[in-house]
Amino acid sequence: MKILISSCVYGNNVRWNGSNRAFEDIHAWAIDNNIELVPVCPENELFGTPRSPIKLEQVGDKGIVGWMAGKDVYRKLLDKAFEITSRHHDAVGFIGIAGSPSCSVSVGVKNLGSTIKAPMHQQSLFPTTEINSMRTELNRDMFLKRVRKYENRRLS
Ligand code: SF4
Repeated sequence: MKILISSCVYGNNVRWNGSNRAFEDIHAWAIDNNIELVPVCPENELFGTPRSPIKLEQVGDKGIVGWMAGKDVYRKLLDKAFEITSRHHDAVGFIGIAGSPSCSVSVGVKNLGSTIKAPMHQQSLFPTTEINSMRTELNRDMFLKRVRKYENRRLS
């Protein structure tokens, strides 16, 4: 099974400041469960690394804006996430990371009064989670059940 994972969590230095958020245990989990982890980073594909950080904001009638060095890049993030998930049409899951305007299950938006799913989760047809939820065996097993169920449905 192929599962997409935020490239910075996989261990690649693709965060806006050139750092990573590696979570080494995820590699052993993947090997144990015959899973191919595929690192993806929408922001690095769009803007390279290093780059300016992105902040989401609700702006009147414009809706949600993704500010990056004074420019709105939110539409680009949505389109790139769609392109990535379409490119990996055989993937059965995505593991993101909290606090990211692109890869978080629940990201804050200034002036909105609530959180939203970041583009990678909005555009994924398969089950998604965040790396923080993969730190316990119980949660890892629950995610595995979800992706196996998705895969079985897809193959039937
Ligand atoms: S866009 Fe996603 S994969 Fe790329 S650095 Fe940000 S959180 Fe990591």
